[in-house]
Amino acid sequence: MTSEWKTLEDVEEHIFECTACPLSETVINKVVRKGSDIPKVLFIGEAPGKNEDETGVPFCGRAGKILDELIDYAGLKESDWAVINTIKCRPPKNRNPNKKELEACKPFLKRQIELLDPKLIILLGNTAEKAFLNGQKMEWGAVEEFEGRNVLKIFHPAALIYTRSRTEDQHRFLDENRHLFL
Ligand code: SF4
Repeated sequence: MTSEWKTLEDVEEHIFECTACPLSETVINKVVRKGSDIPKVLFIGEAPGKNEDETGVPFCGRAGKILDELIDYAGLKESDWAVINTIKCRPPKNRNPNKKELEACKPFLKRQIELLDPKLIILLGNTAEKAFLNGQKMEWGAVEEFEGRNVLKIFHPAALIYTRSRTEDQHRFLDENRHLFL
C-alpha cells in the first residue's frame, strides 16, 4: 500500500528495492528525484537516459541544461522546483517506456506527487502525459485540473535540442501561467 510510505525517503527506499518490471535487470542506477522537498513546481519527465543511468541523477545531460535554462527563465529559486521521471529505470537503448512499465512504476510516481504536493505539475512531453493522465490528452501549453491539481503540458527539453525555435513557444507557455506558480 503506497499510503504506508509516509516520507519521500520511504518511497525512495522501495524504488531502490523494486523489481516489479524487467528494467530492474538492466538498470545501473535508479533515478529518483532532483530538487526541493517542498516544490511549488514539479516537473515530470519521461525516463532516465544514458547519463542518468550512469549517475543516478535526473536530467544531467544536454536536456538537463535546457531544463535548467527553463527554470532560470521561469524565475524559480532552488527551493521552488523538483523534477522526477515517470519511471525510475532506463529502458534499453533509450526507447520509450511501454505501458506495462509505466503501470508498474505508477505507484511511485503517484506517491511522490502526493508527498511533494506542488502547486503546479508541469508535464514534459507526451510520455509524462500518458503516465500521469491515464490516456487523457492535453494541448501543448494548456492547463487543466486533474485529481485536484493544476497541470501544464510543455515540450520535453530534449525536443528543444534540435528545434530551438520551440524555445519561444516554451517561454510563452510559462509566461501565460506564471500566476499558477509565483
Ligand atoms: S522502472 Fe519502476 S517498476 Fe520498473 S523496476 Fe524500475 S522502479 Fe521498479
